[in-house]
Amino acid sequence: MTIAAAVDPDDVVQTLYLSFLGRAADPAGRDFLTRFVNLGDPAAVDALDDVFLSSQEFQDSFAARSSENYVRSVYFNLFDRNAGVDEVELWTDRLDDGGLDRADLPGAILETARESDLEAYEAKLFIADYFTDQAARGGWLPDTLTFPDLRSNDELYADLNRLDARYDTLSLEVFGQSLDGNPLHAATVGTGEAELLFVTQQHGNEPIGTEAALYLLDFLSGDTELAKALRDEVTVTVVPRVNPDGFARWEREVGGERGLTGPRLNNEGIDLNRTYDPAAPFGADEAPESVAVRELVARLEPDLLLDYHGQGNYRAEDGDLVTMSVLWPTNAGVDPAVADASKRAVAAIAESLEDSDYDLLTLYPGETNPAIARNGFALGGTPTVLVEQRFLQEMSEAARGLDLDYSALVSALTLEGFITMKGLVEAAADGSLETLDPAIAERLPERPPSIPYADVYGDDRYGAEELLIA
Ligand SMILES: [Zn+2]
Repeated sequence: MTIAAAVDPDDVVQTLYLSFLGRAADPAGRDFLTRFVNLGDPAAVDALDDVFLSSQEFQDSFAARSSENYVRSVYFNLFDRNAGVDEVELWTDRLDDGGLDRADLPGAILETARESDLEAYEAKLFIADYFTDQAARGGWLPDTLTFPDLRSNDELYADLNRLDARYDTLSLEVFGQSLDGNPLHAATVGTGEAELLFVTQQHGNEPIGTEAALYLLDFLSGDTELAKALRDEVTVTVVPRVNPDGFARWEREVGGERGLTGPRLNNEGIDLNRTYDPAAPFGADEAPESVAVRELVARLEPDLLLDYHGQGNYRAEDGDLVTMSVLWPTNAGVDPAVADASKRAVAAIAESLEDSDYDLLTLYPGETNPAIARNGFALGGTPTVLVEQRFLQEMSEAARGLDLDYSALVSALTLEGFITMKGLVEAAADGSLETLDPAIAERLPERPPSIPYADVYGDDRYGAEELLIA
């Protein structure tokens, strides 16, 4: 089975680069080969597998490997996971005795891939396309196609301090602490008039925004022309992981502990995102995390507050999974001008994700409760936008003991979050945050119904030998 026969024609070239070379296509290679593929001659397209196999780069990197190691590298290149023992055995046998060509292995693996692997493959394609596009534009690129795992609290603090030490353009402060005594950090970049505040992970088991925020800080602090220009126009303060105690509890659950307070909540069992009613503020004894956030908002008076969360899995009628849902403040007491400014931020997010066919953006069906940050801060006059990104269901399954490698999905969602945050910064810098049509936000589709985990991941859940509980 050749790659051309196994994948969508639009994805053939990127898949060739990914599977045979383990990297994103360079822009020139993509343009040249895409034209070639578009000639529509199936034999010519099929021959591309061999072109890649005989390339110097393949010869240097993969050609000398044993069949077994070649199988492993193709799995990792396509799905970002290690191949299972059975998988290595199956394909090694077919390469050595079954007449399967090395050139045909990636296509054959893709053709028989289970749904979770196809999810990972789609995620890698999205990331690879972003890399190729950015390379074509001379834009900023993270170091690798695959981003690190979710950072622990200690890793997060170390990385924030590393950014602080590396960049004069970034300043870091500890503006509060959690009930457990973990520091709450605010990192600020830029000197511009427009003030943005990005808050992530009020719910401990919703970590992707924190990962994305770290890439945003790295990009914004750096010396690209775009970053310099953005810093002149915008001041961005990022508060990553408001609920470190909850995240630490999630890690303990993954490690097998049971009976803990839910990782969504703080150590007092309080949902921090139900503590912001201006008429009924919580005290520092119960929720010091949200008291600190309230004080920070009062001090900074941002032009926009982004509150970044995670949600479960929702599938549209065409089969696509929702990657992100968004909403503005919906409490009836919010000043209509504040609500409109918030809708323009939603519109900016929609525009930033427009070019990617990986992303599926919908409205979030949120409540009017004034104790939710999105509503509570807007009642105080601050425009707010809520982001809810896919991955909560996977986090919950991991906490229950399911050992499935989500690294490609984490990477893709982190990139989506980075694009979203960067899009808001650019919209603040170029003034479109003040001029976009709020109606763009209202035209986003409703979020489709939720689906059970097994509907996304097929039988993986039940096939996992490592499942700790029934
Ligand atoms: Zn949340």
